[in-house]
Amino acid sequence: MKHSNKKVLISGASIAGPTLAFWLAKYGFDVTVVERSKSLRLGGQNLDVRGAGRAIARMMGIEKEILAANTGEIGLQFVNRENKVEAAFPRDGADGFTSEAEILRGDLVNILYKHTKDKAKYVFGKYITAIDQGKDTVTITFNDDSTEVFDLLIAADGVRSTTRQLLFGDEPKVKFIGLYNAWYTIPKKATDSKWARWYTAPGSRVMLIRPDNHGTTRASFSFLSEDKNYQNLSDGEQKKILKEKLSDAGWEADRLMEEIDKNEDVYFDGISQIHAPRWFSGRAGMIGDAAYCPTPLTGMGTTLAIVGAYLLAGELGRHDQHEAAFAAYEKRMRPFVEDIQRLPPGVPWLAHPKSKFGVSVVNTVAGILASSPVKKISKLFGSKEKDVTKDKIELPDFGK
Ligand SMILES: Cc1cc2nc3c(=O)[nH]c(=O)nc-3n(C[C@H](O)[C@H](O)[C@H](O)COP(=O)(O)OP(=O)(O)OC[C@H]3O[C@@H](n4cnc5c(N)ncnc54)[C@H](O)[C@@H]3O)c2cc1C
Repeated sequence: MKHSNKKVLISGASIAGPTLAFWLAKYGFDVTVVERSKSLRLGGQNLDVRGAGRAIARMMGIEKEILAANTGEIGLQFVNRENKVEAAFPRDGADGFTSEAEILRGDLVNILYKHTKDKAKYVFGKYITAIDQGKDTVTITFNDDSTEVFDLLIAADGVRSTTRQLLFGDEPKVKFIGLYNAWYTIPKKATDSKWARWYTAPGSRVMLIRPDNHGTTRASFSFLSEDKNYQNLSDGEQKKILKEKLSDAGWEADRLMEEIDKNEDVYFDGISQIHAPRWFSGRAGMIGDAAYCPTPLTGMGTTLAIVGAYLLAGELGRHDQHEAAFAAYEKRMRPFVEDIQRLPPGVPWLAHPKSKFGVSVVNTVAGILASSPVKKISKLFGSKEKDVTKDKIELPDFGK
């Protein structure tokens, strides 16, 4: 194969990294993936594999596995402090929060890993500490002080990518959107059902409890705040902040507070978009959340990660020169990214009302169904597409 002597290093084994590894291996590249964690990170709630992401999953032969791993969620209920349902959006409703291909992030990561672990070399507990770009190669130093020479480097290591920092410094802008979010897994309780339950508390706080297909329950807690750099605090300090923010929130706040203490994998971060004027520099570049995180509010982070990986691999496969491939990829991808990163006005503030009055507006059936805020919010959840494999981007057939 024409690329068989080209060594590519991918940093990050979540969604974007393994998808890129899958396609690059198919085009004959020699692929290594390094992941900072000691094993795959399998936490998080549901992700949607819709539109172009779904089309690519089909081409990869993993669509059926994704559908089979469905969380079983049947829709979204807005509940009040007493857990009374104020409004419901069933899965088949016009504005579906719950999509047809609803899969836990961890299950998707596992599927992608399973389909690439024999095609690419995975190394866990390893990350890049220095990058030295030459004309014909890029020399990487890792955290264990080892060095290795590659032809290309692609960072796919998420919104807080340190590889991005090594490559571009402060040039890419990390745009905090004023919202903090924590995700974690908790034991299932009698109040949990096949519905996702959304509770809005005064003080711009939202709790979201969702069913999974592993006999547990997925909790998320979000609140509006100015930028406090909470993501840089220790796990213990983060848990303290979360418990303070949850106190007096009502509904199942006590449960969520208790579970935080017992949980070892609370993923807590400020929700931010990444806006980078360049995605490539020399023989290195970035894809997925590292390059253009749109935030989970768009429901499109996974699609962008999968589409970016597919298109970049395809262009690298069909061009001899990486510069030409990077340029062709960026031309296709940038308009799609810009479109998705455009959040509707008022997001996320509309979904996180500050006052009791605001909560009552969001939590009233009439309010929910008629108010334009909720129409805007539910638009974010995406409407039921006629064709589940279509998006505003062309997916060329790059051949074998
Ligand atoms: C633990 C976790 C839970 C999440 N939960 C949700 C959720 O519930 N809902 C949601 O919408 N989105 C969630 N996300 C984000 C979601 O996965 C991404 O928005 C999206 O799927 C794009 O994926 P990505 O592969 O670009 O980046 P990410 O999924 O963020 O993956 C980045 C990967 O790179 C690894 N990594 C980080 N730094 C380095 C480094 N320096 N070197 C090597 N590897 C590194 C990380 O451990 C991770 O495996 C979560 C992400 C993580 C990591």
